Amino acid sequence: FKARPWQLKDVDTVCGYCGNGCTVTLGVKDNQVQTIRFNEDTGVNHGNLCVRGRFGYSYVNDATRLTKPLIRKGGELREASWDEALVTIAEKFKAAGKDLGIISGARLTNEELLLLKRISSALGTHHLDHSGGECYQGLTAGLNETMGISASTGTFPQVEKCNAILAIRSDFYETHPVFGMVINQAIRLNDAQLSVIADKRGKLSKLPNARTLMHKPGCEINMINALCQVIIAEGLAKTDDLQGLAELTKALADYTPETVAKMVGADAEAIKKTARELAGAKNAAIVVAYGLPYTAHSKEIAIAASNLALLTGIAGREGSGLYLCGEKANSQGAIDLQITPGPAGLGAQQMLNSAAEGRLPVLYLVGEDPVVTYPDQGLVKKALEKSFLVVQDLFLTDSAKYADVVLPAASFTEKDGTFTNAERRIQRLRAGIKSPGEAKSDFVVFQSLLNKLQKTAPAAPAAAFGELTGEVAGYAGIVYEQIGPQGEVWGGETLAPLKKVLIPVAGNEPLQAEYQLLVGSALYHSGSVSTRSKGPMSVCPEPYIELGRDDAVTLNVKTGDMIQLKAAGVTIQSKAKVDNRLPKGVIFAPYHFAGLGLNRIYTGQSVIAVEPSKL
Ligand code: SF4
Repeated sequence: FKARPWQLKDVDTVCGYCGNGCTVTLGVKDNQVQTIRFNEDTGVNHGNLCVRGRFGYSYVNDATRLTKPLIRKGGELREASWDEALVTIAEKFKAAGKDLGIISGARLTNEELLLLKRISSALGTHHLDHSGGECYQGLTAGLNETMGISASTGTFPQVEKCNAILAIRSDFYETHPVFGMVINQAIRLNDAQLSVIADKRGKLSKLPNARTLMHKPGCEINMINALCQVIIAEGLAKTDDLQGLAELTKALADYTPETVAKMVGADAEAIKKTARELAGAKNAAIVVAYGLPYTAHSKEIAIAASNLALLTGIAGREGSGLYLCGEKANSQGAIDLQITPGPAGLGAQQMLNSAAEGRLPVLYLVGEDPVVTYPDQGLVKKALEKSFLVVQDLFLTDSAKYADVVLPAASFTEKDGTFTNAERRIQRLRAGIKSPGEAKSDFVVFQSLLNKLQKTAPAAPAAAFGELTGEVAGYAGIVYEQIGPQGEVWGGETLAPLKKVLIPVAGNEPLQAEYQLLVGSALYHSGSVSTRSKGPMSVCPEPYIELGRDDAVTLNVKTGDMIQLKAAGVTIQSKAKVDNRLPKGVIFAPYHFAGLGLNRIYTGQSVIAVEPSKL
């Protein structure tokens, strides 16, 4: 791009990638985003941006953006008018009624999600869900049972003041890099002790003061239980108002640090030290990431983490907190607005299962690409083939290739509205540019669709926000026009649990397998936009399969060699990356590179065979 700073129009908005919710300033010229810069005076990121937020925007100006609606005719997707596309969709949706399945991404604004709910209500369907469903559903169900809330109890500025931090199933330098910087800041400012419960050493483990509590894959709960056991056994628990303490104490008898350490390959002394630090710290934080790759044992992990937060008094104490970091920019908003299956409704995975069996005739995917990101690619493709499929997205994604109707959508730089970040901060997005061609924001598409269904819709995002403050209890009293540069944190800086119920949860036996596959984020999330952006692609340009040094020696493989994974009759080949962060028998691969097709074999915790490639 060729533009001098003074030629740019500045537009303050919010990064469209992850739940950290960094504020950004778009530099706009000739209806193109020419730069993204930071503004130290706004938001929670103090001018910090990660490579995605700072350099990951070229997809917005990409020549392959969808610019016209498409309708399948004679087996081909052909350009059509908006009216023809919307009439076709409205007829199909009305005919399907309660048998319509709607799966949304979590990068839609709150106002767009409100209208999507209105569409599902108008049609009488309860099959509404977002972002894979199972990862957040388990998490929110667990937290609701223990604490009666499903949101972070504190805010990021409070994390900076903590003396002890525990990260569970999280590598924030990959998923929420600026939150990783917040943790680093707590270490620098307060000499905070960071403990990381992990099945592989990530970038968090490289921070000063970091103690990695390594365990075998799938055994996070055993580790959290052991921390709770130490706190109770050593009389460190803050037991006021807690329900279920006797039952939990009894259930944790089998989770002494020594027993757990032996079972899951952990270090008993490290568990004890972490437990004492968390219980004794003036300010402490427990942070849990969630998102598509983190579905296994989601509810049980949430309950175990709540038990720990309640025993230590962390949940609801000013300066301390239990933090849930959703993968996408509006993951928390989607939870707040309950983009969830209604009574007898199907979750995202169940919808796909049902569609694959021919029992859900119409599917509507909005900003979601399950062919690439959901487990069991074969099943997903079958579901999309069998249903009448409507896809609303920025690009002709792998899922959109199966669609009967495709609607071109707007990026975050082209829309107004609000996102709610991982600390419950509601922040304003502002459109900087117009969408290419005839692409429209999801808000405008939903408005038009509601009109075709003979329903009214709010005229603009501000009016929609006004309506949702009457429907989402925590949002009451917040006025769209008055949301300032720091946003508005619903529920206040410290959210107190509505109840304090301790619930025993059983740990898991480690899988006995020569090799196990872990999938996760390597800077990207689903990859639907990040792999179309030069910034992230220059840092991590191609897929890889990572293995530890011991396994590399056994297999006689070095970095750059081709290796293959085999499971369920499928073989996946990629370049090897040899590192020292994976224990023996654990293989890792980032899940977002569509070409790798990792989800042809990944179904949760996958046992695999690994060998050098014959090619
Ligand atoms: Fe955007 Fe998340 Fe990076 Fe912040 S940490 S710049 S919100 S991707």
